[in-house]
Amino acid sequence: MSRPTRILITGATGAQGGSVARHLLKTGHYQVRCITRRSQSEAARALADLGAEVVEADLDDPPSLRVALRNCDGVFGVTNYWEHGEREVVQGCNLVDAILHGEVRHSVLSTLPHTSLLSGGRLHVRHFDTKARVEEYARGRGIPATFVHVAAYYENFLKNYPPRRQRDGTYAFHLPQGSTPLAGVAVEDIGGVVAAIFDESFWYRDKVIGIVGDDLTCEEYAGIMSRVLGRHIEYRYISAQDYAALGFPGASDIADMFEFYRLFVPNRKADLIKSRELYPEIRPFERWVRENADKFAQAMS
Ligand code: NAP
Repeated sequence: MSRPTRILITGATGAQGGSVARHLLKTGHYQVRCITRRSQSEAARALADLGAEVVEADLDDPPSLRVALRNCDGVFGVTNYWEHGEREVVQGCNLVDAILHGEVRHSVLSTLPHTSLLSGGRLHVRHFDTKARVEEYARGRGIPATFVHVAAYYENFLKNYPPRRQRDGTYAFHLPQGSTPLAGVAVEDIGGVVAAIFDESFWYRDKVIGIVGDDLTCEEYAGIMSRVLGRHIEYRYISAQDYAALGFPGASDIADMFEFYRLFVPNRKADLIKSRELYPEIRPFERWVRENADKFAQAMS
């Protein structure tokens, strides 16, 4: 079976979809159509400048998805829990239904594991479980799909948990991850793996591919940042309970996410090997830090 050639992308004005759009366009053998709610935004215009077709559609509006999908034979789908909460499930299922009614040969959906089931009800990472429910729905409907489980973005070290200056002049970041490796990936590399999956979609139907650029303990992340950035950076463990008590929006969900990774995912070395096989240029953390040293200087100031 031949690979798809015209791919519809959701979330293309954002991190994952944007990375996928840029990688597919770079190959020169895919036509790319991006959906957005705001076709005049800066991000949407930048995609058009790269050669993507940009159309307005909304994951909450099934007819708009069907129109957007016309003449497309491939789909990359990502949904955003952090904007929509549990509604992400409906939006993901809307996309699956549109795929089912279209002429799609292959789709790649960004989903995540079902933490409540896998932890026997002990943990509830809502932003994972919503995506797991979409994956379950897609499997039940039998659409041709690969499910990608994307590791934590390296960019979280710049935006969500940058090393902070301590009273003694050193830097530290605090996470409930303990000594279990935490898989990570550079956002811009996600599309490299997804493009490789589309290239050989026949082999990846119904499979889960974990997208991982490195799989290091937090101490190792700290060691690399210290060495490359020339500052003393330490990792300090904080319990999931204390982390949840920090009280920022989504804190308890994120606390449960680290607890899930700490207790139920001993490592993601197999995903790392597969990701490197699919996209050999995928960056290890050290190289990514070197390339982003100026951004760290800003984030840590
Ligand atoms: P992002 O950069 O925040 O961008 C969100 C995208 O979703 C935008 O392109 C936006 O498009 C689109 N969108 C939102 N609501 C929409 C709607 N109703 N209809 C159509 N498009 C809509 O998002 P991201 O980081 O790529 O992906 C977010 C997901 O990644 C989250 O669900 C999160 O759980 C998951 N994730 C995050 C990490 C991490 O480490 N942060 C790791 C793995 C997975 P417009 O605004 O242009 O319409």
